[in-house]
Amino acid sequence: MILRQLVAIGLGPRISSRVSRGPLVETTRSASSDMSEFRQVFSKAKHIAIITGAGVSAESGIPTFRGSAGYWRKWLSQDLATPEAFFRNPSLVWEFYHYRREIMQSKTPNAAHLTIAECEARLRKQGRSVVVITQVIDDLHFQAGSKQVLKIHGSLFETRCVSCGDVAVNQRSPICDALLGKGSPCADASDAKIPPEDLPRCEKNECHGLLRPNVIWFGETLDSHVLTKVETVLDTCDLCLVVGTSSIVYPAAMFAPQVASRGVPVAEFNTDATPETNRFMYHFKGPCGSTLPIALACHESEVI
Ligand SMILES: [Zn+2]
Repeated sequence: MILRQLVAIGLGPRISSRVSRGPLVETTRSASSDMSEFRQVFSKAKHIAIITGAGVSAESGIPTFRGSAGYWRKWLSQDLATPEAFFRNPSLVWEFYHYRREIMQSKTPNAAHLTIAECEARLRKQGRSVVVITQVIDDLHFQAGSKQVLKIHGSLFETRCVSCGDVAVNQRSPICDALLGKGSPCADASDAKIPPEDLPRCEKNECHGLLRPNVIWFGETLDSHVLTKVETVLDTCDLCLVVGTSSIVYPAAMFAPQVASRGVPVAEFNTDATPETNRFMYHFKGPCGSTLPIALACHESEVI
């Protein structure tokens, strides 16, 4: 899947070339877990990039629909999150996303989200920046108060018209009348078989085209405008955090080595270390809701 997505967005060769030129890649030093040393680096950083993954959402109880425990009815996310699945059975795919949207209504940001948002607001007053680059499609970073968030996989709460391409924020619950009470994840639930005309439709200029969730599906290319912004952040940051995902898991696998190759400190915050972890300067093991509040707390050198 990772390779497929890298190839799909045409970044495979570029990433490998960036990785191979990096002076830190060949190092044999272990990643440090010295928090006081990290805090010194943090206190001097002007532009911080924070790459977040599914682990951050999982700590708020958001299911990922991946792995053996991740089934919705009899499907995993990769079975339904494709253009082919949508055009074959838009009712079924909308039921899946309706379920995910409804779940989100009951979830709230956790300590990791809140810490990142608070840090961004605090550092902004000091002329410093924090930008979140995330693969998650929920809106918990926004709910927590983060302003600078680059969502490389789109959003559960946006729609895109398959006819006119219009993208719109949509927080309705349910998103259309026909989905009311539908979307049960139970394996024996029957498909709602909603006619396309009763699924969410475009409201722009009498278009009435079929709407789809504005998320990046398997096999689709990432938004080039978002990627351009991501590139700028990665090329200018002087500290990078990888939170709730491993540095070998997409998208951190694409981005973190690029930052490390410039000699910029990269710090991982997740529950597991991997052999690749030693490419980076720091690794802090544990739930990010526990480690981040310590790592990003106000430093004694900050003038507030
Ligand atoms: Zn339209």
